[in-house]
Amino acid sequence: MDLSLTQDDIKFRDEVRAFLKDAVPPDMKRSQALTTGFSSEPEVAAGFHKSLVKKGWSVPSWPRQYGGTEWTPVQSYIFDTECARAGAPIYNGAGQRMVGPVLLKYGTDAQKQKYLPGIVSGDDHWAQGYSEPGSGSDLASLKTRAISDGDDYIVNGQKIWTTFGHKSNRLFALVRTSTEGKRQEGISFILLEMNTPGITVRPIVGNGGDHEFNEVFFDNVRVPKSGRIGEENKGWEVAKYLLEFERGGALQAGRVRAQFTKLVKLVQARCPDDQAVISKLAELGTDLDAMEMIDISTLSALQSGANPGPVSSLLKLRWSQLRQDISELAVDAIGADALKFIPERPLFESLQLPPDEEEMLTQTPRYLNFRAYTILGGTSEIQTGILAKAMLGL
Ligand SMILES: Cc1cc2nc3c(=O)[nH]c(=O)nc-3n(C[C@H](O)[C@H](O)[C@H](O)COP(=O)(O)OP(=O)(O)OC[C@H]3O[C@@H](n4cnc5c(N)ncnc54)[C@H](O)[C@@H]3O)c2cc1C
Repeated sequence: MDLSLTQDDIKFRDEVRAFLKDAVPPDMKRSQALTTGFSSEPEVAAGFHKSLVKKGWSVPSWPRQYGGTEWTPVQSYIFDTECARAGAPIYNGAGQRMVGPVLLKYGTDAQKQKYLPGIVSGDDHWAQGYSEPGSGSDLASLKTRAISDGDDYIVNGQKIWTTFGHKSNRLFALVRTSTEGKRQEGISFILLEMNTPGITVRPIVGNGGDHEFNEVFFDNVRVPKSGRIGEENKGWEVAKYLLEFERGGALQAGRVRAQFTKLVKLVQARCPDDQAVISKLAELGTDLDAMEMIDISTLSALQSGANPGPVSSLLKLRWSQLRQDISELAVDAIGADALKFIPERPLFESLQLPPDEEEMLTQTPRYLNFRAYTILGGTSEIQTGILAKAMLGL
């Protein structure tokens, strides 16, 4: 396997680096470094998004005709890796990577015209309304009901774990439009405005102290049928297509490498002679190298037009575990300082300390929040099940 970048890729990498130098100024980098949740606060990501729009890179994975770049898989990987290295905010995930591809494939022209520009510009913030209490891994059991009423649906029920539902103006959701036949055959995919009467958003504060999740309740919410994507009762196909993109974020070595690099600096500063920490660090570094190799071989398959297949489940298992292990070792490395806990969020507003002291205060919330990596985007048990079936034929 040839691991070297082509001259064109090196030129592209340098262009990305030059762009990020201006697009991620020190205050934005600090805010991102002090973000302990999974996503960046929209107000931190907004400035970065503006720079991306100016450069024409705000929806890179989309076709050019809709504002995309049509980068090769290697270019996308370089971009993601460089963003992580530069400490750039994570932007527009649910819009660009989830509902956007769905609209491009299943949306009508009117729906594309209505919804795509707001994703490109960053004016719209989307949330994902899939999970319900009791319907997570077993999503097809969802119960939120949409009853037909002329040109509208009347929606009643509840969603949960709705990331940034409190900061989003739009929601895509799966609802039950029929109870006949197989469970998957009675689901529809609809788009809602979050300010529609009857929608209530209730916060869930995670154990790390961050408010990212919400419960969303629907009480006789009237939703125009013009906001349904695809046919009625055919939403399962749309939902699965979207999950390919949500889970397609499998190539994470760049982000994990950035987290690991910070850990190395932390260990050097805090406990350079602690042999137990050093040997665990070496173990994690080796695991990361191995994962990076799988990333690169997957990338090579993608570059030649192949589908990554079940190896994405293997990568999800590995990167989620590694991110947890790195966050755990960071807590070990700072010792008793891990007990200092500041509940106010966001930390970049509540703290005014020297940089290394500020960084110390992010470690415990991050460790606690990162427990969720092995749940989101398909739990470790579900990924293991996929691997057992697809690779071992069990
Ligand atoms: C950080 C984060 C962000 C999220 N954001 C969103 C969001 O924005 N919108 C949204 O809709 N949802 C979101 N979710 C929810 C997420 O999709 C679900 O948590 C996930 O699908 C698991 O479902 P559950 O929590 O109901 O757990 P369950 O499915 O009830 O699982 C409980 C346990 O049982 C195990 N289990 C379940 N089924 C099987 C099986 N068949 N074989 C073996 N073990 C099994 C699981 O692995 C797990 O350990 C988010 C979750 C996290 C952690």
